[in-house]
Amino acid sequence: MAANIAHFTATLNAQPSIFEVIAQNSLNKLLHPAFQKLATFLGELNPSKFGWLVEFNDELFLLLNGLVQVHYLRTTGASFAEYFYGLQRVSILNEKLTDAEQKLSLLFLVLLPYFKVKVDARIQLYKIENADNYLPSNTSTACKRAAIVLHSLFHCLYGFWTFVQYLRYLSNASCHQTPSLQLLRLKLAYALTPQLIPAFWTALFRGELSLSDFGTGLLRNTTTSVLELSAFFMQFLQVWNAERANYSFTSLPIVPPPPVHTKAGDFKGRCPICLQSYKIPTVLPVSGYVFCFPCIIRHLQKDPRCPVTQWPAKSLDVIRLYDSV
Ligand SMILES: [Zn+2]
Repeated sequence: MAANIAHFTATLNAQPSIFEVIAQNSLNKLLHPAFQKLATFLGELNPSKFGWLVEFNDELFLLLNGLVQVHYLRTTGASFAEYFYGLQRVSILNEKLTDAEQKLSLLFLVLLPYFKVKVDARIQLYKIENADNYLPSNTSTACKRAAIVLHSLFHCLYGFWTFVQYLRYLSNASCHQTPSLQLLRLKLAYALTPQLIPAFWTALFRGELSLSDFGTGLLRNTTTSVLELSAFFMQFLQVWNAERANYSFTSLPIVPPPPVHTKAGDFKGRCPICLQSYKIPTVLPVSGYVFCFPCIIRHLQKDPRCPVTQWPAKSLDVIRLYDSV
């Protein structure tokens, strides 16, 4: 018993390295883009069947991320990414999370990132409008410009706070590794019982499971095992892509052009929405069609699909063409 307590205290007192903290943070940030890539791939493969995955991508991820993080916080006291790196959340006094701390952790892990994505997208749209002087001179425009400045300022300050917090943790001036953990008055410690292979699989292969345990355990353990394996492959693909990014683009084979849509000829030199010559020509990369900037933005805000091909698209996908410069 005394040996167990000594082990418990020693494990919680050992501090995770800054590399483990940064690695779990980057894995956590990778989850949403990975889900977006998968949804975009399926949406482009079959727009009529999977277009809704792109349209409601942020909300679907909110739901999925919520379920995953609730499961990991309840069973391991860690977020999914923290658990993956053998870490868990504890209070300053090395105590396990209370119910209130679990709920606040969920707020920081699930809800705030969702609102951040929404705010970032809205600000990006304001930036595109502002860059083209498409905004009229009124109070609404002044508010949008103020929002752009405040957003940049917030990002700079938060980035600086994160950097300072890493330095304070490295120099033992603070036990909180990140700003969000500092606000929650929590810290990351090594997990007490890191389980590389869940007990369910060990018991299954040893034939020690009853039929009812097998039924309830199979779904839960298969889901978590698939998630953890996917996280491993995501990390692997990130490294793979980082290496591939160093290749010279000229050494890559030329990509064959996509087939031209049958309606393409109907809109040659004209915006497919207003059928006039382009005002601020803007291309929608998913289909390759060029529209007036106001026409396509207004359309995508009402219906997030290409007006010609019906392929899923978002306002942020548009690219301004500076053909007359
Ligand atoms: Zn137009």
